[in-house]
Order: sequence, then structure tokens, then C-alpha cells
Amino acid sequence: MHEFDLNNIRSNFSILEEKIYNKPLVYFDNAATTQKPHIVINTLDKFYTVKNSNIHRGIYYLSQQATDAYEKAREIIKNFMNAKHEHEIIFTRGTTESINLVASTFSKAFLNEGDNIIISAMEHHSNLVPWQMACNEKKAKLKVLPFDENGEIDLELLSKLIDFNTKLIAITHVSNTLGTVNPVKKIIEIAHKYNIPVLIDGAQAIAHTKVDVTELDCDFYCFSGHKLYGPTGIGVLYGKEEWLNKLPPYQYGGEMIDRVTFEHTTFNVLPFKFEAGTAHISGALGLASAVNFVQSIGFENIEKHETELLNYATKKSQEIEGMRIYGNAQHKASLITFTIEGLHHFDIGTLLDKFGIAVRTGHFCTQPIMDIFQVSGMVRASFAMYNTKEEIDFFFESLNKVIKMLR
Ligand code: PLP
Repeated sequence: MHEFDLNNIRSNFSILEEKIYNKPLVYFDNAATTQKPHIVINTLDKFYTVKNSNIHRGIYYLSQQATDAYEKAREIIKNFMNAKHEHEIIFTRGTTESINLVASTFSKAFLNEGDNIIISAMEHHSNLVPWQMACNEKKAKLKVLPFDENGEIDLELLSKLIDFNTKLIAITHVSNTLGTVNPVKKIIEIAHKYNIPVLIDGAQAIAHTKVDVTELDCDFYCFSGHKLYGPTGIGVLYGKEEWLNKLPPYQYGGEMIDRVTFEHTTFNVLPFKFEAGTAHISGALGLASAVNFVQSIGFENIEKHETELLNYATKKSQEIEGMRIYGNAQHKASLITFTIEGLHHFDIGTLLDKFGIAVRTGHFCTQPIMDIFQVSGMVRASFAMYNTKEEIDFFFESLNKVIKMLR
């Protein structure tokens, strides 16, 4: 385990020195997107300054350099996730596109009238709407696995939901609203007993814990670069080779073809079959740099620090009158989502902003969770490796002031 030097980590993120309304920025919206370290920004800068060219098609020096760098990025991601093959790593725009890719192509090939797909009640809209649309189109049923008052799912209920017509289970690794870390390995084991493939939405897990797709044995795993200290507009779909080979292409155009005539087209091999058009080349390079950065810190260190922040914030929240925390799972990621009795989430967030504190308010793209708890919205403070206990202290001091002002 390397040493965890918080000041050194923070020095990689210049934005953390910014002043907001003359106050130091306290950035607690990491579940929405994380800040970017210098190494990622420099990678983007360097690509456009000395390497910019299109990949895979050029025979000249620059294009080959760019192609090598892009394919090296794929190799870095493959090792990071411990996939078996590089061609199991598909670059996409992010989690949303990765899920849409699978929902669209899987349903085209395998979903029929009377079938069903299982999701959980804590899914982000990105892992709900694509399946709902696929089911509507194919006259299939979307089944929903509920969670209890702590935000935990019941594996026995999952076994009861599965039937002969269940075609796929799509579930989040970590809930962006409740913070629940779902027992995805056990879910995959149960599903595979019935030969049902599992897609894991890893958007909220990837920056906080080691993900090993071979150990998990998941069929698909999706994440976004921008939640892993990388650039926006780039993400990953990991898919098992056998599944990716069975699915039809998602989009058509350049790169994904093998041979085209006016009458007929044959498709390229993996991973190119799913990467139509010019890729987000600099994004892939930036993401690989982000992965290198995270690995240089080490997940053991990251998890230890973030758990300390979570425990500290959870303890402090007990001192605030009328504060209700949503999501108290035993395995929980480093975020607290809450409401304050009698106050509107939007007012709380607006006033916290005046203290330089960035939190998220609203439904966090999980409207069904808001319906379950019968609230219009919540406030979420989500922590990353660079956050400090001092920032949490300042957050609670400011929150107390906000509550006094609003009351
Ligand atoms: N899934 C979860 C659990 C998320 O938290 C998010 C984003 O907040 C997404 C999916 C969608 O990610 P993106 O907008 O990067 O595609």
C-alpha cells in the first residue's frame, strides 16, 4: 500500500484552489462528476498539441502514433478492469451510451413478447428508461426488485422474481442516491444458475473500489470516464467476448464495417464493430491517464479515506435536528443524501452555494426513489479522494447557518 498524502493529492487538482464568492471551493458533487488531475488535462493538451490525427486509417507517422496511443489506452482499461481481452473493452460516450448499446442490441436479438427484464428500484434513469423502452417495444415486462428502508435489496426476492422468461438482469453496483453497494457478485451467481446474463451499471463504483470483471463474472459492465477523474464524453462498455459477438452492431458507418457494396455490408471484428465513426481519441487517452492516476494512489487508500469521510459525515449529521438520511446500507459508498424537515432541498442547495459549497439537489435522475420516499427532491453531498474532514466540518457549520436562515 502506498502512502496516502492528502495534500499531495489535492495539489494535483488546481480547481480545488478556486474561490467561489470569495470562499474556498468545497466540491461535494463528485457523484455527478469528479474533478480532473493535471495529468489528465496535460494528456489532452499534449494530444492536440503534438499527436492530433485520426486513428486506424492513416499510414503516416502521426496517425500511427495516435492509433498506438488509443489502443494502448484500451489495454490500460482492460488491465484496470481485469478483462480477459482488449477487444472486450468498447469505448463509448459514457455509462448512458453503454447501457443503451446493450439494451438496444440485446433486445433486438434476444427479447421477445412475454419475456421480462429485471432491474432494481434504485436504478438511475440511465439504467431504467432504456430497458423500459426495449420492453415496451417488444411487449416484454420490466420487473422491479424493491429495496428496504435501509436501501438494501433482498436476494431471496430476486430469486422469486426470476422465471423462465427472464432474459437479463440490469442492476447498479452502487446507488447514486442511496449510496448502497449492491452484492453484485451474489446477484451474478444467482442469475448464472439460470443462464441469465447480468449488466452492471458501474458509474458510481468505478472511482471508489477495485472492479474486477473476471472475478465478478459479469456479462456487461458500464462506466463513465468523467466520474473517474477522466474527461467527459468518454466511457466504457465491458462485455464478455461471447456476448459481444452475439449482439448485432449498434450504430452503422465508418470503422465498424469490413466490406461495403451498394447491396451488402459485412461488419468489422470486436471491438471496432461497436465503435462506429471517429472515436473520442483524446478522451480515451485522458481516461487512461486518469486510470494511471487512480492506480498510483491505490484503491485501498482511496476506500479507507472515503470510508472515514463517510463515517465522519454520518456522525455529524446526527447532530442536525430534522435531518433525515436516505440510505443506510451496511455497505455504503461515500455520500450522504438527506432532507431537512420543513425545508426545500433547492433552498438548502442555493444557500450552501453562497458558502462556496457545491452539492446536488433534486431527484438525481432517480425519480422512482423520490416517489418511494414521497419527497420532491433531496440534497446530496458526495465525497471523493481529495475531500477533507475540515471541508465536512465547514459543510455542517454552513448547513446549520442555512437552517437558521431558512427557519
Ligand atoms: N448510472 C448511475 C448510477 C449514475 O450515477 C449515472 C450518472 O450520474 C449514470 C448512470 C449516467 O452516467 P452518464 O451521465 O455519465 O452517462
